[in-house]
Amino acid sequence: MICPYCHQEMIIGYIQSEKDLSWTPEEQPANLFVNRFKTYQVPLDKRHFFKMAIVKVYRCQKCQIEMIIEKDLKL
Ligand SMILES: [Zn+2]
Repeated sequence: MICPYCHQEMIIGYIQSEKDLSWTPEEQPANLFVNRFKTYQVPLDKRHFFKMAIVKVYRCQKCQIEMIIEKDLKL
């Protein structure tokens, strides 16, 4: 993946969580406790009993930005 700002190669890594991960529009409330995805959310990954939620993320060290590609998601 090439960084859209500086056009250098991005590094692949992961964001992990003990809770389900989703993208939520700014004007909507974030989930506090319940891990059920709302219709306005984009599910990124669900945690399982012995596995944390993991999302593949591209990072540009120079620009200090992270990118998630929805086609990489396993949901
Ligand atoms: Zn960059």
